[in-house]
Amino acid sequence: MKKITDNEIIEIADKYNSFGEKLFDANENYPITDSERITMIERLEYKFSEILDILRISRDDPNCANTPHRLAKMYVNEIFSGRFVQPPEMTFFPNRKQVDNLVISKGIQVMSICSHHWQPIAGRCTVGYIPAKRVIGLSKISRIVEWFSRRGQIQEELGEQIADFLQELLAPKALGVVINARHYCMIARGVRGSEEDTIMTTSVMRGYLLKDLRLRNEFINLIDK
Ligand SMILES: [Zn+2]
Repeated sequence: MKKITDNEIIEIADKYNSFGEKLFDANENYPITDSERITMIERLEYKFSEILDILRISRDDPNCANTPHRLAKMYVNEIFSGRFVQPPEMTFFPNRKQVDNLVISKGIQVMSICSHHWQPIAGRCTVGYIPAKRVIGLSKISRIVEWFSRRGQIQEELGEQIADFLQELLAPKALGVVINARHYCMIARGVRGSEEDTIMTTSVMRGYLLKDLRLRNEFINLIDK
């Protein structure tokens, strides 16, 4: 029988938790079943109680009595929900009129959490594209942004993930994803910049938007309006 080396044991332990469940990156997605969700919330509630104990927060404090349960539900069903649910249902339409100009969706809410500090990243996203064979319902773009946001993220990777996904779905002639967001790890701790000062902007440009400066300027101008 082949002996497992120490390195291989470390590698296996790296990929699975103590319940034998697969581990994956904070901003990846592996859907879970309803019963897995219930178990996850129960386990998490138990661990959050331990955290409150370590922080010496009394459970007799009426404001904290249910906090472990509240936190457990919030992390699984809201803050990290994009890790555990299927991608949103998509609706496409044929590009019948051969639209060859920018289609832009602005003001899409971004409510995410930073992987480094687990503090909110809150802002807005703009997605613009020049369709090729098909167009997508605008509300679907918001759902896609939401699905990728509701995970532990860093803003740079969030923009790339949204762009990769739309690229795959639409194969557009041009694609731009711009995110402006406040990072509460900068506001609540660390350098403590004022809220106004700490907006981070990231942009991902693909296709014609990457190559054509005139088009890129048009896109940026339309975002600012
Ligand atoms: Zn952070």
